[in-house]
Amino acid sequence: MAEQEALEAHYRARSLWLDGIPEPLTPRLGLGADADCDVAIVGAGFTGLWTAYYLKQHQPGLRVVVVEREIAGYGPSGRNGGAVGPGFPGSFAAYGIRDGDESVLRAIREAKAVVDEVGRVIADEGIECGYLKAGGLVVATTEPQRARLLARPAGLYDQDDDELLLEPGKLAELVRIPGVLASRFSPHAARVDPARLVRGLANVCERLGVTIHERTAALDLAPGRVRCAAGTLRADTVVRATESYTSQLPGQRLRYLTLYSLMIATEPLPPEVWEQLGWRDGLEIEDLHHLFFYAQRTMDGRIAIGGRGAPYRLRRPLSEANERSEAVAQRLGRSLRRHFPAAAAATITHHWGGPLAVPRDWSMSVNFDARTRLGWAGGYTGLGVAASNIAGRTLADLVLGRDTDLVKLPWVQHHSRRWEPEPLRFLASNAIVRVLDRADHSEDRTGRPSWQTRIVAPFMPPQH
Ligand SMILES: Cc1cc2nc3c(=O)[nH]c(=O)nc-3n(C[C@H](O)[C@H](O)[C@H](O)COP(=O)(O)OP(=O)(O)OC[C@H]3O[C@@H](n4cnc5c(N)ncnc54)[C@H](O)[C@@H]3O)c2cc1C
Repeated sequence: MAEQEALEAHYRARSLWLDGIPEPLTPRLGLGADADCDVAIVGAGFTGLWTAYYLKQHQPGLRVVVVEREIAGYGPSGRNGGAVGPGFPGSFAAYGIRDGDESVLRAIREAKAVVDEVGRVIADEGIECGYLKAGGLVVATTEPQRARLLARPAGLYDQDDDELLLEPGKLAELVRIPGVLASRFSPHAARVDPARLVRGLANVCERLGVTIHERTAALDLAPGRVRCAAGTLRADTVVRATESYTSQLPGQRLRYLTLYSLMIATEPLPPEVWEQLGWRDGLEIEDLHHLFFYAQRTMDGRIAIGGRGAPYRLRRPLSEANERSEAVAQRLGRSLRRHFPAAAAATITHHWGGPLAVPRDWSMSVNFDARTRLGWAGGYTGLGVAASNIAGRTLADLVLGRDTDLVKLPWVQHHSRRWEPEPLRFLASNAIVRVLDRADHSEDRTGRPSWQTRIVAPFMPPQH
């Protein structure tokens, strides 16, 4: 019993959102012996569960089993900023495509449609997760940030014709932020409580007949089988949906660089503070510092704000010790007070974080080998809430051999090269964070673009 309570407390401490789940976080039954199925999925985050969901939509009779090391939504899927789209990690160069290619247009269409698709499933399945599509806002508060804002688009995901540069008067209709020099608004973004979404999705999958085994770590994946401590899952198809944790699996150590994104949240704010902020409910906001912040108005009236910047540890790049950082929490507190001064006196009730999977070319992949019947997706670099829905739908189509538009998107069968071995990856990672932090300080102080980011350019996505 004491062990059960400790486990529950441990899971709730992973994020504001997991803490707010109304039901107990009791793990589902683990895999206790060898078993057979048609599709075995490793990982009950968004990628694994969306894959399971769409497989069952297309073939209700398919035997789908998910194994999860902790509980559904334990990873970043239950901890993130809750911004749904319209972002895709990746660049034209990495995907080997040119501006104007048909696959770019397909990707842009999909980037817009996915926000509505996530909303549709949430509505159809009755998942209560505060989904509200009120758009996404990017603000620039220094001259270099304004230059970056005007220079967009830089990556695939910024190719949105519907994005608007806002007049100052128009900005005030969305939110009041002091010192904004320029801002851009896209209607294609929504807010969710991510833990309620991922846990709701797990319940829906179970209702559709998917078996989910929690507290069941996959030790090894191979064609036709997933080996776990208490038994082996034999399957026609195996899907790996472990994102940043992939680097803990045999042979995968250099697949991703692990960067941590951390968040803080205020107590629920009174109506008069929201009145002063003038923040349209559901609007997602981010800025253009190099170590940018992202923020949402939560369904229970808090501000949750996050950003990168936690140091990378050579010995334990993936560790709970990396999920909190006094320095990052303080920086986020400063961003909160500066951009949302009406909330400056609010108590910070939660601080948490989680790992991001960064491929060497900062571009996501959805892969399936028809010969071995092994599939996997990931490498979302912090943009996976919407991208994992596309990945899950695509994996379902690939597994079932469906010839759809999804399987022709640029990231399908994309292979990023591996990262350099340690200590180079460690040095690169910490240099990236340190240099970006210094560049932000310098830009804030001088109002001029920093040259320092050029040092880490070889390790960064094209827009940096
Ligand atoms: C603080 C933070 C803020 C973010 N904000 C946003 C945002 O606002 N918008 C956005 O689009 N993206 C955001 N992201 C990124 C987004 O959360 C992720 O891209 C997305 O959740 C990845 O989903 P996933 O299912 O692929 O991986 P995960 O959520 O990591 O799920 C993988 C699952 O696999 C399990 N697992 C791992 N190893 C094993 C094993 N050996 N055996 C069995 N199970 C295993 C894990 O326990 C985990 O539950 C953020 C991330 C963080 C950390």
